[in-house]
Amino acid sequence: MVYLKLFLLIILFQINIVSQDISSFFKERGEIKLKFQFMDKAELNTISKIISIDEIDFQNHTAIAYSNQKQLTKFIELGYDFSPILYEQPKGILTTNNIEEAMEWDVYPTYETYVSIMQQFATDYPSLCQVYSLGTSTEGREMLFAKISDNVSQTEAEPQFFYTSTMHGDETTGYILMLHLIDYLLENYRTNATVRNLVNNLEIWINPLANPDGTYAGGNNTVLGATRYNANWVDLNRNFPDPQDGIHPDGEVYQAETLLMMEFAENHDFVMSANFHGGSEVINYPWDTWYERHPDDNWWQFVSHEYADTAQEYSPSGYMSDFNDGITNGYDWYEIAGGRQDFMNYFHHCREMTAEISNIKLVDESQLLPHWEYNYRSLLNYMEQSLMGIQGIIRDSVTNEPIVAKITVINHDEDSSEVYSNAMGRFSRPIYAGNYSIKIEASGYYTKIINGIEVANNEQNYLEINLIPTYVAVEDENKPLEFKLLQNYPNPISKNANQSNTKIKFVIPFSANNEITPIKVVVFNTLGEKIRELVNNSLSAGEYEVNFNVSNLPSGVYFYQLQSGQYFDTKKIIICD
Ligand SMILES: [Zn+2]
Repeated sequence: MVYLKLFLLIILFQINIVSQDISSFFKERGEIKLKFQFMDKAELNTISKIISIDEIDFQNHTAIAYSNQKQLTKFIELGYDFSPILYEQPKGILTTNNIEEAMEWDVYPTYETYVSIMQQFATDYPSLCQVYSLGTSTEGREMLFAKISDNVSQTEAEPQFFYTSTMHGDETTGYILMLHLIDYLLENYRTNATVRNLVNNLEIWINPLANPDGTYAGGNNTVLGATRYNANWVDLNRNFPDPQDGIHPDGEVYQAETLLMMEFAENHDFVMSANFHGGSEVINYPWDTWYERHPDDNWWQFVSHEYADTAQEYSPSGYMSDFNDGITNGYDWYEIAGGRQDFMNYFHHCREMTAEISNIKLVDESQLLPHWEYNYRSLLNYMEQSLMGIQGIIRDSVTNEPIVAKITVINHDEDSSEVYSNAMGRFSRPIYAGNYSIKIEASGYYTKIINGIEVANNEQNYLEINLIPTYVAVEDENKPLEFKLLQNYPNPISKNANQSNTKIKFVIPFSANNEITPIKVVVFNTLGEKIRELVNNSLSAGEYEVNFNVSNLPSGVYFYQLQSGQYFDTKKIIICD
């Protein structure tokens, strides 16, 4: 008994010491940086769900992570060991409250100057740019979004594109690059063909600062003291719903900044997006949460390499060349749950990547213009990709009104990679070069399949698609409207009759583009063995009739089937003596 008491005392004493130690780490800031050792990738993935991993040295099995007090308590409870890394204030970072000075993009603006710059864009270019404050951060700072497009005050039938930066408040390179990008797009619209094409054909949204409380944690007049986490000491890039780990994968409530981004995503139909970070130099593409590859993995590698290769070309050797020549699959690097990239891809059918654009997080202001120079062509290229692949507009065949429809690439899409047309009927399906079939579905309309769509990389295949409303009866039109396999006649058919042919009729749907559709009509016996192929041909829309001669077949039950892409229909036929 005495021993047991002593034992309990020791345990209590140890826990007490530990909790005392923990709080002492967080006296200055609500987040600390720490170093720990891990055995293997599996352990790293487990730890990644407890604290916020930032850097990994796979050779030495060590990693650097950020942690708040709650996370660290859990980390220690699970028996992990760590050494804290002292926070070092970066030196000589310049901040200005002069708008003109700030708009040279080689110095950080104060918070108020940032807000003024954003407003200035809208004032200077009213036909191209609108600026919205869509809400406030935890501490009440503005969450600002610039919308850039020709005829910016109208909603046009254009794909929507989104850039957002610095959800980790101390990763500031992207913050200034995004401001510079807005300026570049507006200033060069009249003279630069690439910019003109993007602004004319896309609805571009840019949010330079997704975690203003983190960036200005040291006060509105300086970015010194910037933190990774938000004002509640939550990592915003672990705070989103996760395809695998569900809601609240980090055990925290959704932060004001997260809720605002979730609502923003809900209210738009982004085709592509990216979020910008620092601390590394690599393009990180989906998924982060699981090993499974994205169905468009080849496309992801293509656009990620395009980004990194172009950046390498315009930067000193070594820039953005780590991992696989500057790109990595997210999970291959390390698993994260609650990241915004997977959230956008899985829950919003978007293509979002995570761009890590400087090894140093809070870069010296002298590094801002060089990093713009390394990256700006890649920023434009990536935007341009949202106009490539299968593109088009979907309308009601009767009223010509735009339709919100689901577009699935047959035998290809999974994990939410299918896309939807927006309220203007416009859809965009970036995809790697190949030959594809798509299915277009909308409630109240006949489903349509389009085969043989050729896609080349960096090219656009634009389709104008009409869907026929289901209230239009087939009989009302001279044209057949949907796939249809009719009952053969005569049936049953006698194989000994003078006329041992039975007629099989079928209908190939009318389409706006007069596509040629590959069609098969095949006869099976009851064992499922194919005994006759009556049609194997590409046909345009219309009503067809084939003769099936049964004279050489044993009597019994047979089936005939119409096959086209994913469409199948089967009917029974009886052959008698
Ligand atoms: Zn980051």
